[in-house]
Amino acid sequence: MATYEALTILDFQNKFNTEEKCRKHLFHIKWPYGFICPQCGNTTYYPIEKRKLYECKACKHQTSVTAGTVLHRSHIALHKWFWAIYFVAHDKRGISATRLAVELNLSYQAAWLMLHKIRKAMMDCDAHYQLTGIIALDEIYFGTPIEGVTRICSRDIIPVVAGVSLDKQGRPQYIKMDVVESTIKTNQSQGLADFVDKHIASGSTINSAAYRAYMQAVTSGKYPSGPLLLYDKKNPDQLQWLNTMISNAKACIAGTYHGLGTKHLSAYLSEFCFRTNRRRVAPELFNRLLYACTTTVTITYQQLIVRNIPGLT
Ligand SMILES: [Zn+2]
Repeated sequence: MATYEALTILDFQNKFNTEEKCRKHLFHIKWPYGFICPQCGNTTYYPIEKRKLYECKACKHQTSVTAGTVLHRSHIALHKWFWAIYFVAHDKRGISATRLAVELNLSYQAAWLMLHKIRKAMMDCDAHYQLTGIIALDEIYFGTPIEGVTRICSRDIIPVVAGVSLDKQGRPQYIKMDVVESTIKTNQSQGLADFVDKHIASGSTINSAAYRAYMQAVTSGKYPSGPLLLYDKKNPDQLQWLNTMISNAKACIAGTYHGLGTKHLSAYLSEFCFRTNRRRVAPELFNRLLYACTTTVTITYQQLIVRNIPGLT
């Protein structure tokens, strides 16, 4: 299991204040036991200093420390990438593209793309895990209702399902939030069922409101414990924790991203969940997020602008 060094802002500043220090750190993450050619497995290389590449002595394949990572083919300096990752990891509410552009002397477009690439890493990292045990589940809406238009009809309203796993004392452990296609208000359970299938481990106990859609989703046979009632007076803490986390997510997204475009809501929710799920190891968050960024393939600008989010058609 990987271990992650805890860093204060001063530690960070001292460790990564040059391009070379950042490059060496990436080299160590990518090849902790020394260089290995991704093409043939050979362990010796020629450094090509000018282009910051490593050429395999056996097969002549050339590679870099950023190949196959979120930083791949970026023209932005490594130390700026490190700062962006630090800001995203350590600011509880995240950082907007406008502020990042100012802090790192980048164009707004460059900062916006960096942040989305970092969010992609957060999304991929948490996709490896499912909620397990006792799960409090609810549906929520993001956006502002248009006056005179019902919530369901308004294009500004985005249905989201949130699940929080709880320990035996009812305290929150991990959270997942995702945009869904349809929810209980539309009397269709598919979006909810998809969320449950994707994000909740088989055999878990789901505590949820007794709406028909929830019942359909959780009585499909996958969850032997069956549904319990979230709003039961015996479980007020479970409702409280779920609501607290949902409120935090809404405050974070409204406060930092001011009128977030609906197209990318899933990515912003992933960012919130990534940080919340690691709140107990907050000093390690830079290294954890950097590791996530170096172990996932990037997303391009073209892929981002055509991203299709369920429920927004
Ligand atoms: Zn090779």
